[in-house]
Amino acid sequence: MIDSSKEKALELDANDPLKDFRNKYYIPKQKNGEDHIYLCGNSLGLQPKNCRDYINQELDDWATFGVEGHFHAKYPWMPYHEFLTDTMAEVVGAKPSEVVVMNSLTVNLHLMMVSFYRPTPKRNKILIEYNPFPSDRYATCSQIKHHGYDPEECLIELKPDQGENVSLENIKEVLDQHGDEIALVLIGGVNYYTGQAYRNKEITSYAHAKGCKVGFDYAHGAGNLQLNLHDSGMDFAVWCSYKYLNSGPGSLSGCFVHERHHEDEHLNRFAGWWGSEKKTRFLMEPTFVPIKSAEAWQLSNPPIFPMAAMRASLDLFKEAGMDALTTKSKKLTGYLESLLLQNENNKFSIITPSNPEERGCQLSIQVKDADKKLYDQITAKGVIADWREPDVIRIAPVPMYNSFEDAWKFVELMNEAVS
Ligand SMILES: *Cc1c(COP(=O)(O)O)cnc(C)c1O
Repeated sequence: MIDSSKEKALELDANDPLKDFRNKYYIPKQKNGEDHIYLCGNSLGLQPKNCRDYINQELDDWATFGVEGHFHAKYPWMPYHEFLTDTMAEVVGAKPSEVVVMNSLTVNLHLMMVSFYRPTPKRNKILIEYNPFPSDRYATCSQIKHHGYDPEECLIELKPDQGENVSLENIKEVLDQHGDEIALVLIGGVNYYTGQAYRNKEITSYAHAKGCKVGFDYAHGAGNLQLNLHDSGMDFAVWCSYKYLNSGPGSLSGCFVHERHHEDEHLNRFAGWWGSEKKTRFLMEPTFVPIKSAEAWQLSNPPIFPMAAMRASLDLFKEAGMDALTTKSKKLTGYLESLLLQNENNKFSIITPSNPEERGCQLSIQVKDADKKLYDQITAKGVIADWREPDVIRIAPVPMYNSFEDAWKFVELMNEAVS
C-alpha cells in the first residue's frame, strides 16, 4: 500500500530537487484564487515567467535598430536560431549539427517526407503507428497521393496486441512480412492517445535492416523523455515546442536529420535561401549550396518572437537538465498512478503502459461506457486535463512545474467523482 496521505505528498515536494521550478511558471488560477491542477502540459505547456522579458528584448531591439537588429540586436537576428541549437540538441539527445528549429510541426513532417519518402513501384508503403494523430495520417496519405499511389493500399497501420498498445514483437512481425515494400516507417514516438513510448533504437535498426527509412514524430516526446535521437540511428525526427517544451501556442517546431545525410548530394529536398551556405547566401547567386547540417532544410528567415519565447523556455530546460527532469517524471507519474489504482473501481482503467520505460509522464485514463461525466466533474473542481474521444481523459503531471501535491489533489478529486 502506498501512503496516500497529504503529508506524504508534501514531503515528496519538500524533497524534490526541482521544486523551485514551479515558481518559474505561471500556473493558471481558479476563480477562488487557488492554482488550477494543471495536467495538460501534453497539449499546451505553461508560460515561463521569463518569457515576456525575452520577447520584450526583441521588441526593444527592433524599435532601436530597425533592420540593423539583424547584426546589432543584443542577440542578433541573423544567427538567432543558432542560439537555440545546443540546448535543443541536448534535450533530444542529438549532435548540434543534426538539429534545427524551423516552421511548424506538420510542415516539417512534409519537408522530411520530401527527402525520406521516395517511393518506387516495388517499395512505396508507409508504416505508421496504431491510431496516429490525425495530422500525421493526413500528411502521410497526401504524400502517398502526391507520388501517384493509393493511400488505401500504401498506408499500413500497426495493430494493437497488448490492450491499446503495440509490442515490439508485433512491429518486427509486420516488418518481416512487409519490410521490402515499406519505403518509410513513421512512428509517433509517444502516442498522443495512449501515451505509449515506442522503442526507437530497436525499431530503427530492425527497419533499416529491411531497407526502410525511419522517422519519428516526437510531438509528445520532446522535453518529456530521453530520446537519444542520434544513437537511435533514425533518419529524421520532428517535434513541436508548444507541448512539453513550453514555447507558446503554435510555436516553432524542431527537426532532426541524422548526420549521415548531411553530405548526401543526391538527397531530394525542397530548398529555400535560408538552407544555403551562410558565407555565400547574401551574394544572391542562382545556385543553392546546401549547408552541411540539418540547417540545409530551412526555407525562410525565421520568426524572432516565437524563437525568443523558445529561448526563454530552453534556458530553463538547460538549468533543470533532462536527467533530473526524467528522474522526477518517473517518480511523479508512478506516484500518481499508484494512488489512482489504490482503490478498486469499475469506472475507469489506465491504458498507458505500466512499464516506466514505455511511457513518459502522460497517463491515459479510459472511462467505462465513455461516460464523460467523470471528466466534467473533475473539471468543475479545478482540474485542467483533456478529454479525447471516444473515452479517454489524458493527464500529464509535468516534472518541470507539477508537484506531488497536484498529483495527490487530482486523485482526491477522482475518488470523489467516482464514489
Ligand atoms: C500535436 C501534434 C501535432 C500537431 O501538429 P501541428 O502541425 O503542430 O499543428 C501533429 N502530430 C502529432 C503526433 C501531435 O501530437
